[in-house]
Amino acid sequence: MSFDLDAGLAARRAAGLYRQRQVAHSPQMPARRFDEGGRLTFCSNDYLGLANHPALVEALAESARRWGVGAGASHLLAGHTAAHHALEDELAAAVGRPRALLFSTGYMANVGVLTALLDRQATAFSDALNHASIIDGLRQSRAQVRVYGHAEVGALAAQIEASAGKRLIVTDGVFSMDGDIAPLPALARLAARTGAWLMVDDAHGFGVLGPEGAGSVAQAGLGVDDVPVLMGTLGKALGCFGAFVAGSEALIETLIQHARSYIYTTAMPPALAEAAREALRLMRAESWRRDKLAALIRRFRAGAAALGLPLLESTTPIQPLIAGSAARALAWSAQLERCGILVPAVRPPTVPDGTARLRIVLSAAHEAADVDRLLDALGALAQSA
Ligand SMILES: *Cc1c(COP(=O)(O)O)cnc(C)c1O
Repeated sequence: MSFDLDAGLAARRAAGLYRQRQVAHSPQMPARRFDEGGRLTFCSNDYLGLANHPALVEALAESARRWGVGAGASHLLAGHTAAHHALEDELAAAVGRPRALLFSTGYMANVGVLTALLDRQATAFSDALNHASIIDGLRQSRAQVRVYGHAEVGALAAQIEASAGKRLIVTDGVFSMDGDIAPLPALARLAARTGAWLMVDDAHGFGVLGPEGAGSVAQAGLGVDDVPVLMGTLGKALGCFGAFVAGSEALIETLIQHARSYIYTTAMPPALAEAAREALRLMRAESWRRDKLAALIRRFRAGAAALGLPLLESTTPIQPLIAGSAARALAWSAQLERCGILVPAVRPPTVPDGTARLRIVLSAAHEAADVDRLLDALGALAQSA
């Protein structure tokens, strides 16, 4: 039998699920140039507006002159520089933990930590809306996986109490497609009561939530004893690239021994680590970015409520507008594009069937006038719907 790729692609197209890329010709910022023309965008994870910040650009350029471009090897085989090491120390300090370990991407961090900690004898409890990289890490780990209903701590408690052995609860801190925050205090209490470990993927909370942007776990007042495994990324609020896992000395040493996605890959370019150090400094020092973002979120939610738009309940920069069918989400996205606004439709399988949506994302790089322009366009959409 041959691979009938054309038929598979045609079926996907017919279902309104075909994925396409748009080619940008300017850096990550709200006003961008694409093949189709200029667009005001509400779809980046550059929450603090750092991706194109002159201080980061300068740190990257200057460090490239010092360190060159490629790390040239994995961390264990002489690719680990003083730049990486300093970034790890500063990340650990930023999230109030003894140690941190850099990974090349958040996807690899989740796969690495889950496969290093879990085996066939272990059981993992995973929120139904967890990120794909957690799902893939759990599959690779060969652990027993129990998926619990989104944020349903009661149902999770029943599942955990019926289980034995090595157990890990794993959750997004901020859910990437819904924008809501995990019930972290309740999860931490459950973990403490049952002896399970708790892991939080804070890709969307780090930099945005908590004191100095320390994230959703810090915002909930929880520490390393409550949440032994914390993962964060550098490609979202920090505007760079890469990720880290933070925790105890023993956790980090275990990952260095066993996390295959850490061991068998090239270290990130050292100049990028230097740029991330600059981003981390700005993240901690410039709390006005979080204040501005919070004000934009309030402005958007108030305006959307006045228009009667069905926004999901979210206090974070991720503000999804549920369309239902993939066709409807695509039509909304196309109508916004005609107003010069880019908000891509997010469709199954990225989100559950029947919940296709516009994933509207705000950034500290937006201005109030940008939010008002989006609200005007959404108002027109609501009237024509
Ligand atoms: C983006 C994301 C990741 C992956 O991080 P990358 O650095 O982009 O690979 C992991 N988890 C969540 C929740 C994410 O949103």
